[in-house]
This record gives sequence, structure tokens and C-alpha cells, in this order.
Amino acid sequence: MAGCLYLVATPIGNLEDMTFRAVRILSEADLIAAEDTRNSMKLLRHFNIHTPMTAYHEFNKIDKAKSLIGKMQAGATVACITDAGTPGISDPGEELTRMCYEAGISVYAVPGPAAVIAAVTSSGQACRRFAFEAFLPRDKKEKIRILEELKSESRTMVIYEAPHRLKQTLIDLEAALGCERKLTIARELTKKHEEKMRMTLGQSLDYYHKKDPRGEYVLVIEGKSWEETDSEDRARWEEMDLDRHMQLYLDQGLDKRDAMKAVARDRGISKREVYAELLKGNKSAKEPGSEL
Ligand code: SAM
Repeated sequence: MAGCLYLVATPIGNLEDMTFRAVRILSEADLIAAEDTRNSMKLLRHFNIHTPMTAYHEFNKIDKAKSLIGKMQAGATVACITDAGTPGISDPGEELTRMCYEAGISVYAVPGPAAVIAAVTSSGQACRRFAFEAFLPRDKKEKIRILEELKSESRTMVIYEAPHRLKQTLIDLEAALGCERKLTIARELTKKHEEKMRMTLGQSLDYYHKKDPRGEYVLVIEGKSWEETDSEDRARWEEMDLDRHMQLYLDQGLDKRDAMKAVARDRGISKREVYAELLKGNKSAKEPGSEL
């Protein structure tokens, strides 16, 4: 019988956050694939777990996954852990999981801590809808592309950052989203020096101008407000000639009646006003309710 893979979440700072199930699965597995075996040894010792470990990390994630899959095909139960938190969340685990699916091996999550969830839920920002961006790309071009995308993001955004890159990331975010955008800076979650600061991006730059970042960070940034989006859109439509605006919707396959409705909604005016404007522009629009 084939074995299986468990993705086991481990604490992000506070050992009391280890779940009972995580301890049991790690104790019962045949093999633990750990991101850093030396680091995980402390965790296993603390919970009196004696399962053999092997290294599974970013630099051997394909070759090692093949050998782990071989073991699971032969019946072994493998548990994957990372240095902290949930495997697959900005950590190894995703490739191994995908390859297990391809090999027909069952994969089970053993949920537990993840900095993204701890940060977003304790941030005081809207957490019904959020976009997890993990770390911003290091590549300059890619980073610019992501920041461009984030400019129109209306969901709360969550970004991981290391202390030595925090200032630059705040500078980049301020340039993209403006100094008034609010955020919560969550630091050292679940640890002794846990801290959460709610401020604007502008204020965060002033703060870190005077103080050097230390520890692990998650940035939880408010999304763009609907009002801001609406007024920007409205300004864009108002610049557009009414005929072109109508044509935009006609080209999308809307009939004249629905196109007029959409144009009226976009410009914040009534359908009758759109009609009157179109007539003024010497167009052959007919009374709403006749052919339209
Ligand atoms: N797999 C982990 C998880 O589930 O959150 C994330 C691992 S990722 C390599 C490490 C990053 O997660 C850190 O740079 C930091 O941004 C964030 N992080 C991890 N633990 C944290 C903590 N206790 N407080 C704040 N951020 C943390």
C-alpha cells in the first residue's frame, strides 16, 4: 500500500502553538522532511519526537521530492515541516505536493500557525477579503509589475518582509500606494516582543527613519477604497467622449439599451441624460423604450 504525505504546520515563535495532531503525526511518520534539520531538531527534542529526518529545501526540492515519492510509493508516511509555520506558504512544500498529486500519492494538511493568518486577523484591517503577496520579488522589473497591480487592489494586502529589506519595501509601497494609505506592521508575532503598529505608509517611513527594523515582519495594508476607485473611474469616463464610451459597450456585445444604462452608471448620470447628450451630438439614438 502506498504511503502518504503530511504537510505539518509548526509554531512561528511560540512552542505552545504546536498542535496535538502535529506532535502525533510527526511521532508516527516514517520520515520527516525538514527544511533545516538542525533547526527542526530543537523542535523535535522539545516534543520528544524521535522520527528520522532528512533535509528538504529550496535547493534540492525537485531531486529530493523524487526520492521522497519513491519512499511513499513503497509505503512510507512522510511528514514535511519547515523552519516555522505552514509548509508551502513562502516555504518549501508546494513542489513536493504537486509531484505527489502527479504520482497519485495522497496529501494531507495538518493545519496550524501561519504568519499571514496571525497577522491579518490581528491587524485591525478588513480581513473578509485579502490578497497574500508573500515577499515582493527581488527582481526590479517583477517588483514594479506587482506594485502596479497592487495600485488597484481593493482587498487587504499582506506582505512578508525581512528586517534588512523592510525600509526599502515601505519606500516602494509608499511610492505605489501613496503616503496616506493605512497599514498594520506586525512584528515578532506570538513571540516575547510581539508588536503591532497601525499607521500610514508616510508615518511608517518617518518611524523607520529613526529606528532600525528588527525581527520578523508582516505588513497588512488596507486595500484601495471603492470611493477612490469610483471617483478615478468617473474622472476617466468624463474625459472620454460619450460616443466612444457607448461604443466601448456596444463592442462588448451589449445592445443599445444596456450600453446606455452602463454609460449612465459609469458617469453617474441618468439614462435620460445620456440619451439627451447623444441626441445633441446629432446621433440617431431613439427614445428609450422604443427600439432601444
Ligand atoms: N511558512 C511560514 C508561514 O506559514 O508563515 C512563512 C515562512 S517565510 C520563509 C518567513 C517570513 O514569514 C518572515 O520573513 C516573516 O515575514 C514571516 N514570519 C514568520 N514568522 C513570523 C513571526 N513570528 N512574526 C512576524 N512575521 C513572521
